[in-house]
Amino acid sequence: MKSGSPLPGVDLRTMDLPAMDVGSRTGRVRACLDGAGCDALVVTRLPNVRYLTGFSGSAGVVLVTPSELVLFTDGRYTTQSREQIDEAGVAARIEIRATQAAQQAVLADLTRPFARLGLEAHGVTWARQRSWAEAFGEVELVPTEDLVEGLRRVKEPGEVARIRAACSIADDALGSVLPCLAERPTERAFALNLEVAMRERGASGTSFDTIVASGPNGAKPHARPGERRVEHGELVVIDFGCIVDGYCSDMTRTVSVGDPGADARHLWEVVRESQQAGRDAVAAGVECAAVDRASRAVIDAAGWGELFSHGTGHGVGLEIHEAPRVAKTSSGTLEAGVVVTVEPGVYLPGVGGVRLEDTVVVTDAGAEALTSFPKNLETGT
Ligand code: ZN
Ligand code: ZN
Repeated sequence: MKSGSPLPGVDLRTMDLPAMDVGSRTGRVRACLDGAGCDALVVTRLPNVRYLTGFSGSAGVVLVTPSELVLFTDGRYTTQSREQIDEAGVAARIEIRATQAAQQAVLADLTRPFARLGLEAHGVTWARQRSWAEAFGEVELVPTEDLVEGLRRVKEPGEVARIRAACSIADDALGSVLPCLAERPTERAFALNLEVAMRERGASGTSFDTIVASGPNGAKPHARPGERRVEHGELVVIDFGCIVDGYCSDMTRTVSVGDPGADARHLWEVVRESQQAGRDAVAAGVECAAVDRASRAVIDAAGWGELFSHGTGHGVGLEIHEAPRVAKTSSGTLEAGVVVTVEPGVYLPGVGGVRLEDTVVVTDAGAEALTSFPKNLETGT
């Protein structure tokens, strides 16, 4: 199986990505500290570390105080952390310490003036919390939830530009490899080809493990691609994405090489209508749950409500799944600049499945699709 065109139509190296205003983000965190019941915050979740500093290493802790921003990392990242922080235009002090114990000693010193120190409840292990509680003595440790994540919900134009770039790379990569489906590749070989095509266009990696689920495997929403060959006339769920400068894309298409039959066509058409209804519902000021209801109503009406076994969508950004959730139980409201997926699916155990997904950015008037690969059930034989 050949890997698409030798000269990609979309190439990150020819795209102009606007600068991001990383430096102003710490000020927005500081404005939230008091409301969260703390005087300073220790950030341990790596996507949040990156969001506040531009540092993308695998080990980093950030301390936000009213007057200082300090990044702790280790000797592997001495040069990289300096370069990335300078490039992001962030005024941060860097503390290089070889061990967590040494980092903890400096943190304890720096946080002594504060009565209440916020920790990220979803990012601190039990062991670390215990160790810090001992090391920090008098300082009260306050669990905070989604403080930085809440700020990440609404994307800056520079962030949307990166997600858009990742989406257009994914669109173009799928277009280049889709004809190979007619050659009866294994799911695994097709997934690999798709991933190579995204890397060739400048993506730094995949945003999650690519899903290629053919025939009955399509009934498992998160199937892993295996050695099964994609046969003509069966549904294939392809769910994939890539990363550009840390930002993710996410798209699903369900296709068939040739005619999959009347039942499969009906199933696909219902999911397409459901996906369109969800997309049409997206706009600033709309409740996340209302988008889910719009998509779900179409599938309920077709009698498959029980087989739409997941939420309608999720936020996308530095993480492939981030706030807000678009589900029955979601309580949030969409705002302009939020990036979410709309991805209803129906899964018939033992038979197969259909899911269609786009990543969209919320605008005042509605939603603008960032993934735009055409939705056609049948692809060429
Ligand atoms: Zn997806
Ligand atoms: Zn998704």
